[in-house]
Amino acid sequence: MTATAHRPPALDKLLDSDTLQALALQHGRVPLRDAARAELERWRSQSPQPPFDVAAFEAACSARLAAAAQPALRPVLNLTGTVLHTNLGRAVMAPEAIEAVLAVMRGPSNLEYDLAAGKRGDRDAHIEALLRELTGAEAATAVNNNAAAVLLVLAALADRREVPVSRGELVEIGGAFRIPDIMRRAGARLVEVGTTNRTHLRDFEAAIGPRTALVMKVHASNYAIQGFTASVPVADLAALCRARGVPFVEDLGSGSLIDMTRWGLPAEPTPQQSLAAGAHVVTFSGDKLLGGPQAGLIVGDKALIDRIRKHPLKRSLRLDKMTIAALEATLRLYRDPDRLAERLPTLRMLTRSESEIRAQAKRLAPALAAALGERVQVQVLPCRSQIGSGSLPVDRLPSACLAIGAPADAKRAGRLPERLADALRALPTPVIGRIEDNRLCLDLRGLDGDAAEAEFLAQLPLLTTARL
Ligand SMILES: *Cc1c(COP(=O)(O)O)cnc(C)c1O
Repeated sequence: MTATAHRPPALDKLLDSDTLQALALQHGRVPLRDAARAELERWRSQSPQPPFDVAAFEAACSARLAAAAQPALRPVLNLTGTVLHTNLGRAVMAPEAIEAVLAVMRGPSNLEYDLAAGKRGDRDAHIEALLRELTGAEAATAVNNNAAAVLLVLAALADRREVPVSRGELVEIGGAFRIPDIMRRAGARLVEVGTTNRTHLRDFEAAIGPRTALVMKVHASNYAIQGFTASVPVADLAALCRARGVPFVEDLGSGSLIDMTRWGLPAEPTPQQSLAAGAHVVTFSGDKLLGGPQAGLIVGDKALIDRIRKHPLKRSLRLDKMTIAALEATLRLYRDPDRLAERLPTLRMLTRSESEIRAQAKRLAPALAAALGERVQVQVLPCRSQIGSGSLPVDRLPSACLAIGAPADAKRAGRLPERLADALRALPTPVIGRIEDNRLCLDLRGLDGDAAEAEFLAQLPLLTTARL
């Protein structure tokens, strides 16, 4: 077979070459044939048609198969500076959680089986005792995410009845979760109370009536109302609800299980505080500050949790065994708060000191500069990380970044930061940064641990800087 010809040989003949036979062994005969057909098609559609080059054809088939073999969902390095990044998968699991998931994936488990009694059990049992212990609640259950938890609570407790909520708390989170919409979907009637900036206890007193199912408070996760403001303290609202005999439900959003200020982080309300202040039911996420898998946790009074658990929607929203395994293992880590910041990756990242991150940036800067060449300048600059996922929206954590941009004397820097971002995203483990002040910033708070750092460094020679 000559290397180039005006017409390609027959497909079967092409597939017979040593190179393509090797690809068939690696990827399978059918995918190879499909790739070869597509590549021939591409060659035919060119105009004017170049001579057919066998080596180029084989390389193109190989590239096609390699691209198709890439999983669609894959790991990235989150150097955006937002630790709990919803688009990048939020919390990173602890090794204990990962081990627990692997164990239940490999074989059968007692997911809904009571080993002591030798009969059917309840999947909530694996996490309920821990949640009770950690939050002080009488009972607990869990569903797929906190949005589902809110939906289920409303469907179970407020069907066709009224739910007063402060106008300052009618939140939208990530576009699809809006309190007024969830209320409607759950079949509850939203009663708006007070004003956007100020809501008083007397507003709630006036709103509670015979058609009230429950009163709801929603944590203002992703915004802050500042200036001339007033909101009703949880304890006052809970006391009013108890006096009137209506349940008080609080959606905490992130809901850290532990006081974050012990690590110098901003205070975030905990479910235990909320329950201690008199809330009947509290919902919060599993994959925000808690640092576990995606889940919606519901804790509170036993009679109400029983009603929630029995609602038909619970069956549709229930957790799978892998999530339960990861959640149980993560919750167990909370029994030993003193070691939590070492063992829980999300908390470890949030508590990394500015000086440690800056030292890491200084360590990595020369390698990055060498890989990127002379057209760009790499600097170590101070920056501010965010917790993310609607936690503590106003507070920022001092951090350090590798800031990549044009050298000061560059004539045309054009869309350099965007092109740098493209090149880093094209790496085998894509690196995601953020563009700020005409530079691409890689906040190293998210590059936690020797393995992550080694992975970052190992990929640098693969950076294609030709198009910078
Ligand atoms: C994040 C959040 C939700 C949604 O939680 P998911 O676990 O993402 O479904 C609901 N309410 C509040 C207040 C939140 O912050």
